[in-house]
Amino acid sequence: MPRSQEKTKLSVVTNDGRQTPDTPDTEVCQKCFGSGMEIVPGKGAKQCDCQKQTGKVNPFERVRVPRRYNGCHFNSYEPTNPSQTQAVRFAMNFTQEFPAVDQGLLLTGPVGVGKTHLAVSILKGLTERGGFSCLFYEFGSLLKEIQDSYNSFTHTSELAVLSPVLNVDVLVLDELGASKPTDWVKDTMAHIINTRYNDKKHTIFTTNYLDERMGNEETLEDRIGIRQRSRLYEMCKTIEIKGADYRKSKYAR
Ligand code: ADP
Repeated sequence: MPRSQEKTKLSVVTNDGRQTPDTPDTEVCQKCFGSGMEIVPGKGAKQCDCQKQTGKVNPFERVRVPRRYNGCHFNSYEPTNPSQTQAVRFAMNFTQEFPAVDQGLLLTGPVGVGKTHLAVSILKGLTERGGFSCLFYEFGSLLKEIQDSYNSFTHTSELAVLSPVLNVDVLVLDELGASKPTDWVKDTMAHIINTRYNDKKHTIFTTNYLDERMGNEETLEDRIGIRQRSRLYEMCKTIEIKGADYRKSKYAR
């Protein structure tokens, strides 16, 4: 490889003082030194070849935030009641103070009050701060990926899907309790929650199910089981967000 295309590997010291191993993401191009722009003597600046070679992945895509949440961040969340004001405050505090935080967050409330918006904002904020690994998964999609990994025609393994979910510094699990709670779903959920609990990893959950029984509606405990709900009390601060469906108020006029 020509000297000009060599890359220097750097290890990252994360904000909690840990030193991570070398990864391709931390390689610095010797042409542009990571700026993405190369200075060509007498001609000016041009996009560096390393950007074309790697197709530079948007850091938020690596976190797997769905595109429809591209516009979501703390500054685009407009609280409409005190519970939403409090929720933004907790979410921003978590983002600023991590990893010096005791618990993750369990954001509960009806559809459309901005639970996912705030969970995504946390991941974006942490990604912008840098030094932390973050991952977003809608729980149903994660289960599907794990199921698909059993398929002999796909070349992923269950471990390949699960490993980042278990190991990442901050995981968002969106829509907890939404999948039909079969024994397999409960076992898989228990494995993820217990592993992250034992490893003291922080997790942000969102769910439409509440602790309090409203009429005939199922509670979070009904959906995920008494043991997992109990564990979440310790792992996460529960934040109930109240309000109307933002999309309905905005679009159904
Ligand atoms: P939930 O996860 O609670 O069902 P979402 O976070 O998916 O709700 O929100 C649905 C849509 O409404 C998203 O596009 C989100 O950005 C937007 N939204 C919800 N609440 C607010 C808010 N208070 N301010 C700005 N946008 C909001």
